[in-house]
Amino acid sequence: MNADDEGWKTVKNKYVSKGSRNVEKNMGVSTSNGLNTLDPSSSQVPAQTILKAAKYLEEVGLQEKEFILIRTFSIQRMYRKLRGEFPKCSRRRLICNNYGAPRWVFILYLNLQGRLQIIDRIAKWSQIEDLTCPLCAREPQTTEHLFFKCEMTSQMWERLLEWQGIKKRAQGWSEEVQWAEIHAKGQSAMANMYRLCMAACVYHIWMERNLRIFQGKSRTKEIILRLIAQEVHNRGNQYKKLTRKLQAMKWYPRD
Ligand SMILES: [Zn+2]
Repeated sequence: MNADDEGWKTVKNKYVSKGSRNVEKNMGVSTSNGLNTLDPSSSQVPAQTILKAAKYLEEVGLQEKEFILIRTFSIQRMYRKLRGEFPKCSRRRLICNNYGAPRWVFILYLNLQGRLQIIDRIAKWSQIEDLTCPLCAREPQTTEHLFFKCEMTSQMWERLLEWQGIKKRAQGWSEEVQWAEIHAKGQSAMANMYRLCMAACVYHIWMERNLRIFQGKSRTKEIILRLIAQEVHNRGNQYKKLTRKLQAMKWYPRD
């Protein structure tokens, strides 16, 4: 008995109940040389299922001969092969393990997805004359600039970092996210406070940007920082693990 015969025997034993039934007739098989010999028009459910599965085997790069030699089959492994390998989504942790208000976390989520409608994205499909950052009125408004390369937002973020006891310069959005993925994962008070402050800061910067564009009003960074600090205290004090951390921090970020 060669390998093909052996493999085919396995397929038959797997998909057809044992007994006196005529196996090949039930499965619509004309010969017993392999899957190509199955006749879908005359087959019942098991053979049709096998034929449909052949499409997925091709997708994962498995040849028919290789497949029938497999002795054990793992649905989980097949699913992973079909899905492809992705790096573990550590960005998700910034969202899922975030004690911030739902509206903060939602804006942070959109920003992590690159879906906040920053002007440079809108400008790709519409005619917008003013592409300048409404906060500093100097640089083009992009995600990287607004979070946190802008003169105003970088100072705000650095003061929030210092407030938490983190010595670090503010960077562009992609670098900030990379830093957070490495240093602000886990359930320590520091990591939780960082994620909370990041969500609050992104949200309030976005609100300030909208306020200036759509209502022509503006607030100073000191006012926004005080608002962020008050709201971080309110949210953080609802969670035991952050209460002690907040007690060790000053009431407001230092000027
Ligand atoms: Zn700016």
